Amino acid sequence: MTRGNRLSGVFGLFGVFGSFSLSGKSGERGEMSYKRVTQKIIDKLESITGRENVLTKEEDIEPYSHDETPQLKFSPEVVVKVKDTSQVHQLLALCNKEKIPITPRGGGTGVTGGAVPVKGGVVLSFEKMNQIKDIDIENQMVVVQPGVINGNLQRELEKEGLFYPVNPASMDSCTIGGNVAESSSGANAVKYGGTKEYVCGIKAVLPSGELIKAGGKLVKNATDYRLIQLITGSEGTLAAITEIILRTVPLPETRVDLIVPVNKLSTVKNIISKIWQEKIIPASIEYIDELTIKITKDFVQQPPSLPVAHHYLLIGVDGKEERVTKDIEILGQICMDEKVEDVLVAEDRPAREKLWKLRQSIRDALLKFSLTMVEEDIVVPRSKITEFVEKINQVCSEYSLTAGVFGHLGDGNVHLNLLKTSSCQDEWEKKVKKALDKLFKIAISMGGKISGEHGIGLVKKAYLPLVMSPAEIDIIRKTKLTFDPNNILNPGKIFDL
Ligand SMILES: Cc1cc2nc3c(=O)[nH]c(=O)nc-3n(C[C@H](O)[C@H](O)[C@H](O)COP(=O)(O)OP(=O)(O)OC[C@H]3O[C@@H](n4cnc5c(N)ncnc54)[C@H](O)[C@@H]3O)c2cc1C
Repeated sequence: MTRGNRLSGVFGLFGVFGSFSLSGKSGERGEMSYKRVTQKIIDKLESITGRENVLTKEEDIEPYSHDETPQLKFSPEVVVKVKDTSQVHQLLALCNKEKIPITPRGGGTGVTGGAVPVKGGVVLSFEKMNQIKDIDIENQMVVVQPGVINGNLQRELEKEGLFYPVNPASMDSCTIGGNVAESSSGANAVKYGGTKEYVCGIKAVLPSGELIKAGGKLVKNATDYRLIQLITGSEGTLAAITEIILRTVPLPETRVDLIVPVNKLSTVKNIISKIWQEKIIPASIEYIDELTIKITKDFVQQPPSLPVAHHYLLIGVDGKEERVTKDIEILGQICMDEKVEDVLVAEDRPAREKLWKLRQSIRDALLKFSLTMVEEDIVVPRSKITEFVEKINQVCSEYSLTAGVFGHLGDGNVHLNLLKTSSCQDEWEKKVKKALDKLFKIAISMGGKISGEHGIGLVKKAYLPLVMSPAEIDIIRKTKLTFDPNNILNPGKIFDL
């Protein structure tokens, strides 16, 4: 066990968070008083999970001190890998009794610092709880442990002719537990919705160690206070999820994806409006701007060849063969009416996978291109989304900021990535802050929110009062205290108590 190790809060953009040290006695960490992990506690942890599942060496715990949020790092004192609900129950009961902070972790792909142990203590890793327990074809449901990787679930279900449509771009490394905790979505949300629409049952352990079971293999349930909905999207602050029942849908017969290169945002708006008017519901309507395409094409191996344009739409339609053929014909007509040429159609799987590989590589490409980046995932009513993208371009140009803009246009959800290419850090941070203040206010005036899918975590919590009134924040604060009176579960996230 490395004791007295320094926890570094490196990023501190906008001065919201700082670094702190554990190299003192037990004491105040923020607003609550927590105890440190002693050798006696380590012994108890080892007796719960076995010695091999308790990590204390600096090099072993380092990977658990960050997620995918740029420049954010806080070390846990110990990492514990659990294998079943009973171990989670014992672990939480122990941490609650000893007042030790504990942070659940899935794949560590979060981008708002949700799995980063900002108060030190224990990281509770679900990586070994990765079993698909039951694929129930009759009920079209699947029972999984939280550590199942999203992409692995997709592939297993496909073998049975079933489809779990929630496909975050991180699907090959994020877990279902993390998806539920973040209420994540993917590119298929236009037609199929996000995680919230699929969770029918949850087993979870409360910070006290008590086990709760909400829902079941039920299509309907009007029996409780929507506990499932409360835990889904609670970012690991209310309960540790140990089992999930998900609804699935039949695997679509076929899918076709189109890349539509467009030069004006007004054309993007017209195309999307016409899609709704024609009553087509594509699985996906993704947007990628010119700079982002260029950076990503330079990043991936063997990128698809695309015509040069200022904006790109990636539209996917799926369903029965006949319906998809009809939808593609209508989409083709819409593009012709809007004078869009060079539409690329990807019908077979390798061609489609090449397009989606490009889409899924965007974030890594932008991170490689930029010294650092600030990423936002603002959501507005979908009728306002092209107007909002226009505002992003205006505000970025006003502050001379470089941005990679892409996202789920069909859901009104845009990913704005402010890239630091050169210039001094202080000056860049000031400009970013001013630009974001302006853009958040514009989004809110349009009826939007500061996060569509990435959550608040640590890095967005300073902005929560912009979108929630004191009375609303008070309700979630009291809810947190009802679940977790000692504030041991993922403390420091979403809001301060
Ligand atoms: C390249 C890339 C692309 C991405 N694309 C998308 C996208 O398209 N859509 C999208 O929504 N997000 C996306 N994300 C963000 C991220 O992948 C999601 O938030 C994902 O759901 C996190 O899952 P995870 O298993 O990695 O969770 P982690 O990062 O490990 O944890 C996330 C949160 O969940 C909590 N948690 C994890 N497991 C449990 C559990 N069992 N019980 C209770 N709480 C738990 C943690 O405490 C933390 O607060 C992307 C990220 C990257 C890096």
